[in-house]
Amino acid sequence: MRDDELLLMIPGPTNVPPEVREAMAAPCVYHRGPEFAELIAECVCGLQALFGTSEPVVILSASGTGGMEAAIANLVSSGQHMLVINTGKFGRRMGQIAECYAAEVTWWECRPGEVADPRLLERLLGESHFDAVGLVHSETSTGVQQDLARLGEVTARAGVLTIVDAVSIIGGAPIDMDANGLGAVVGGSQKALMLPPGLSFVALSAEARHRAAESTSPRYYFDLLRALESLEKGQSPYTPAVSLFAGLREALHIIHQQGLPDIFRRHCCLGSACRAGIKSMGLQLLAADERHASDTVTAVRMPEHLDSSELVERIKQNDSILISGGQDELKGKIFRIAHLGSCGIDELALTVSAVAENLAAMGLEVDAEAAAAAARDAYQTLYA
Ligand code: PLP
Repeated sequence: MRDDELLLMIPGPTNVPPEVREAMAAPCVYHRGPEFAELIAECVCGLQALFGTSEPVVILSASGTGGMEAAIANLVSSGQHMLVINTGKFGRRMGQIAECYAAEVTWWECRPGEVADPRLLERLLGESHFDAVGLVHSETSTGVQQDLARLGEVTARAGVLTIVDAVSIIGGAPIDMDANGLGAVVGGSQKALMLPPGLSFVALSAEARHRAAESTSPRYYFDLLRALESLEKGQSPYTPAVSLFAGLREALHIIHQQGLPDIFRRHCCLGSACRAGIKSMGLQLLAADERHASDTVTAVRMPEHLDSSELVERIKQNDSILISGGQDELKGKIFRIAHLGSCGIDELALTVSAVAENLAAMGLEVDAEAAAAAARDAYQTLYA
């Protein structure tokens, strides 16, 4: 990390390791030549393990929202019924995209910090006809994580296609797309994958590919079947962000060298450590039930009389650490610490300590050393 850089503890972009930066600085390869064919094949193979699928993963030169739009444009046609589990900003975005494609969206509104109950989902799917269910695995705006395995099991049993926004968690927690019967899973580059923004990843099940062939929704750049056809020739239909692909190969190399089980364990332990540090200060998590708190981002309620935007700014100025405030209706009311990608307990403890110190400067009675120690203790106990 350079001296003038901020430590990024926001839910994307995250810190990019030096090896990945170097790989991206290499000369560009020609995207219609054999070197790119090798590069894209290695990237797809490395991604499949993260998605828990043997299906090819389409890599789009577009941010996570582009990946979400691609999934919906290919899988949901005008007039089809989609149940969208709205856990926050990104659940809402998914439903808005579906509405753009003239889907009949039924909104399942979760309160901020709450997740969907699989039993209720089962009831809803039994009561009405839905062509698709959309949900966000880790809702970045509220720091909650859905039980993907159970929700997927319910939708698969009901024969309804599930579209999952896993943008802020892919590579940070296990996803078993094939085993859980998920129709489409979307990931993004600038989170647990430790890359700059600009790539998204979309995996489709065989059933979803069949749907895509029948979808009447308009699409051109985001035609996933065309992308899959190109992939067979080791290409993408249009000029890809070649340098980001080079970075992706390096990031996947790092990830697979560390081993997915270890990476997932680190993220899970960092989540617990962050919550321990926060609770030691007497602050409240936004997650209604800690068992559903996200492994990759923790959302914390700001004490009533204080504004989280001020806390974020103070930490940036005083400690060169960037954390996030709340979005939309949660602006000023919560702050969020992300612990994903190239991040360990040292970075997290530093951040927890900075939060405490700056809260103390804002008049709260908190002990920075004790908060950092609580985070470290929780991590060591769990990670041991
Ligand atoms: N979905 C989730 C859960 C996200 O956290 C984000 C970005 O933060 C997105 C979608 C949108 O991704 P992007 O900003 O890369 O378009």
